[in-house]
Amino acid sequence: MTKQDNQFKKVISHAKEYGYIVQSSEIYDGLGAVYDYLQNGVELKNNIREYWWKSMVQLHENIVGIDSAIFMHPTTWKASGHIDAFNDPLIDNKDSKKRYRADVLVEDYAEKLLKKAQKEIDKAKKRFGESFDEEQFKTTNPRVVKYLTQRKKALQKIAQYLEENNLEAVKTLIEELEIACPVSGSKNWTDVKQFNLMFGTKIGASADSALDLYLRPETAQGIFVNFLNVQKSSRMKIPFGIAQTGKAFRNEIVARQFIFRMREFEQMEMQFFVRPGEQIKWYKTWKERRLAWHLSLGLGQENYRFHKHEKLAHYADAAADIEFNFPFGFKELEGIHSRTDFDLSSHESHSGKKLQYFDPELNKSYVPYVVETSIGLDRMFLAVFSTSLQEETLENGSTRTVLRLPAILAPVKVAILPLVKKDGLPEIAHKIMADLKISFNAIYDEKDAVGRRYRRQDAVGTPFCITIDHQTVEDKTVTLRYRDSMQQKRLKIQEIKALITDEVSMSNWLKKIKL
Ligand code: ATP
Repeated sequence: MTKQDNQFKKVISHAKEYGYIVQSSEIYDGLGAVYDYLQNGVELKNNIREYWWKSMVQLHENIVGIDSAIFMHPTTWKASGHIDAFNDPLIDNKDSKKRYRADVLVEDYAEKLLKKAQKEIDKAKKRFGESFDEEQFKTTNPRVVKYLTQRKKALQKIAQYLEENNLEAVKTLIEELEIACPVSGSKNWTDVKQFNLMFGTKIGASADSALDLYLRPETAQGIFVNFLNVQKSSRMKIPFGIAQTGKAFRNEIVARQFIFRMREFEQMEMQFFVRPGEQIKWYKTWKERRLAWHLSLGLGQENYRFHKHEKLAHYADAAADIEFNFPFGFKELEGIHSRTDFDLSSHESHSGKKLQYFDPELNKSYVPYVVETSIGLDRMFLAVFSTSLQEETLENGSTRTVLRLPAILAPVKVAILPLVKKDGLPEIAHKIMADLKISFNAIYDEKDAVGRRYRRQDAVGTPFCITIDHQTVEDKTVTLRYRDSMQQKRLKIQEIKALITDEVSMSNWLKKIKL
């Protein structure tokens, strides 16, 4: 098992052990790629959602939020292109009987070549030191050139074949590249087939009047169909945005990466309506703004990178992903797409209703262009959780597991720990608890030695612990312990609330977003 696999396993088991995430219907052996958030998971998830919502709706005077229904009229999905084009190319390995996305097999192959090239570059960097010219090395070293060319060719070919819907060529490519099934190791593949990812269901009581519906595969369409309702009732002028968070459903073919790829998941999307011709300017702005939001959480700049789409979706004229360094490597966390006027125009023609905006400055009506930012809440959860989970060796040689969650996102902000269960200490601790719980999530714990209680809170990710000891009875001071540094300081009971409020206040963190 590689170091990465090991770390990922730890993330999954820690999530279960500390009340964050478990598989859905676990007692019935679980349901594939569907997960339940437990007592700590739901708090962390709510906090991430709130931080996103505030940064969109509260910080931007020209963005409002909505909450549209999961069920939508079925024509919505005809207009959006999902019925005709929301397909993934699937391929089965005949020996392991495992199912894969053909494009992902090729992408993983390309990623391996990139890693090989990077290895050569890192080796040379070490050898040449200061004088190393990376760009020159990349274009002249025969091995690196070979890896990078092979990678580029494979990616270009898969993009081209999918564009042409040439599934035979996709299969031939997989055979030519000698891609083997990661499970069986064999190259015994079936033909490639297209598979629509939408879940179907029915609405209505009797069989003949029932209407075929889909569970929405994205939240965006609920925004598009309400574009004019919001614009008219809010009297907003272009450019303006509509934000929404909510569940989306996709019958994913490959679903083996915990909450990275789920069949039921949550999205946080914002559609920004702009004048035709100004979309690329806004697309660039939103790329910058979204990266700034991520960086404000302090998970490390090196963990993010942009990936520009070579193959654009049918609706886009520019698109990029923000990729994050997950335990299994860099993968898409968020998409920023310039969607042109595709969606609104298509809804206009399918519904027969005008979806135009009258621009008083230009004195004319038009269908606005749209720049979208779309992030998976669960993927963001995984990014935060996996990066925060760390193991460190202490000075005395022992190790501690610590979940260094950003303080604003932590499910519980403070633990109240009386040193012993007697001498009036629990009474004081309960009083402190009663006061603090009005302002934020606090937890009271008097079981076990205080050292063990600290470790428990480290593992859950609680940023502060307050210990009440015999000195508290005398002078009304307590010990405050910081999770990350384990440093402690003495402070007065009445100073606790202000200190913690300052550290966990979303306003203070929102200020850090460099817009
Ligand atoms: P991928 O290429 O990984 O399948 P996508 O390009 O289809 O993703 P979008 O349609 O752009 O994804 O959706 C926007 C965001 O929604 C993604 O960036 C991701 O964070 C999230 N997302 C999409 N599919 C899933 C899923 N099955 N499980 C969890 N999150 C998802």
